[in-house]
Amino acid sequence: MTSSPSRAPFPQALLAETLLASQVARESNARTYPRRLPVVMDTAEGLYVRDVSGRVLMDCLCGAGTLALGHNHPVQVAAIRDHLTAGRPMHTLDLTSPTKDAFVTALMATLPKQLRDNGRIHFCSPSGSDAVEAALKLAKTATGRRGIVSFSGGYHGHTQGALSLMGNRGPKHAVAGATADVQFLPYPFCYRCPLGRNGGCDAPCGCEAYARNLLHDPESGLAPVAAMVMEPVQGEGGVIPAPPAWLRAMGELANNTGTLLIMDEVQTGWGRTGKMYGFEHGPVVPDILVLSKAIGGGLPLAVIVYRGELDLWQPGAHTGTFRGNLLAMASGLATLGYLRDHDVPANAAAMGERFTEHFAALQRRHRFIGEVRGRGLMLGIEIVDPDQLDAAGRPLGDSERSRAIQAACFKSGLMIELGGRNGAVVRLLPPLIITPEQVDVIAAMIGEVCDTLAGA
Ligand code: PMP
Repeated sequence: MTSSPSRAPFPQALLAETLLASQVARESNARTYPRRLPVVMDTAEGLYVRDVSGRVLMDCLCGAGTLALGHNHPVQVAAIRDHLTAGRPMHTLDLTSPTKDAFVTALMATLPKQLRDNGRIHFCSPSGSDAVEAALKLAKTATGRRGIVSFSGGYHGHTQGALSLMGNRGPKHAVAGATADVQFLPYPFCYRCPLGRNGGCDAPCGCEAYARNLLHDPESGLAPVAAMVMEPVQGEGGVIPAPPAWLRAMGELANNTGTLLIMDEVQTGWGRTGKMYGFEHGPVVPDILVLSKAIGGGLPLAVIVYRGELDLWQPGAHTGTFRGNLLAMASGLATLGYLRDHDVPANAAAMGERFTEHFAALQRRHRFIGEVRGRGLMLGIEIVDPDQLDAAGRPLGDSERSRAIQAACFKSGLMIELGGRNGAVVRLLPPLIITPEQVDVIAAMIGEVCDTLAGA
């Protein structure tokens, strides 16, 4: 790792404590990650971060899946440095530049023909949430309809429109009126089938049939539906990969009902699931694609890409100041080049399988591991209490134990995330360039933590 710059003139452990206390005293009650991962980062490289006391941790949170190449990858650092050294602008509103043009060309080249050839891109304010807002507005404008279909367990961000699509009811409670004209459909979460079909479905999946019936039923009670918004793998909702057949069926249903398919690939885009895009697992082609996180190469950037025929909104329909983050485009371009040149999505697929094999072995040792699931390097381990069953006979999630696993991993030097219903799913979002050796070390650490907790 690179050595750290100048340090404060008092003991490092004390510095960490002081800065953590300062954060607690001054930052909002709405802060999240530092509550369970109280780290004061000093330097970072690849999988590793070093805190101010010199302790090295492995980062399998990676900015909630943002850091496709891990921290400060040399190609990203060089791209940012070159951009600045050449005196290029950092910020241009949505005015163009060679960097922007090259970024758009490279991004479009990753997309299927329907989006690539006649597609349009809109640069949004740099958050996934804002890009989701843009997608909703475009869909409503282009169709003249107002209803939106979302899915239970979905996560699309925290601005008001995006929040209205969210499965988790917690953050919505305090915000009145956040669900107007949004209808929720069951997402095919087979381990806890929302239709109560324990043990899985015969084709066609019940969730598929339910959606088809609702969208065709003149007595469904739905407002005219502009769009269906989905994640191809639900991330925050607990790492739930949609079955490919369901993805295809939803694409067909959208197509047959004049409903636009908005694919939220904020977390899954650019190799995370073992393919460049999560929709390729169907495959299905979205009408509107939402991207953020990885595309900025570690810096904030968010876009939507959509079929050209939908470009019916007016100038200024979704504007904002920080839509021309050229440093992010330079870093994103370098990231994309690396992803392609090194077939990083294939590594994500292979390393995802390697993790899964380790976790499957762990599951054979511990009844509290209810399910191991994921796609590529979006991995989840659902922690359950095998002796407490819900009305459908399924083990309840055990968030006390999942939190204990996260805390013990942190103590051992590994940062992981929690997600899913009540945070009972242990989540891993490692760098996509992780090596087999690193996978084995991480899996062994989680294994030891689970063994110790089982014996406690
Ligand atoms: N959509 C998905 C699928 C996400 O995972 C997230 C963030 N975790 C968002 C949207 C919101 O992105 P942001 O936090 O950048 O607003």
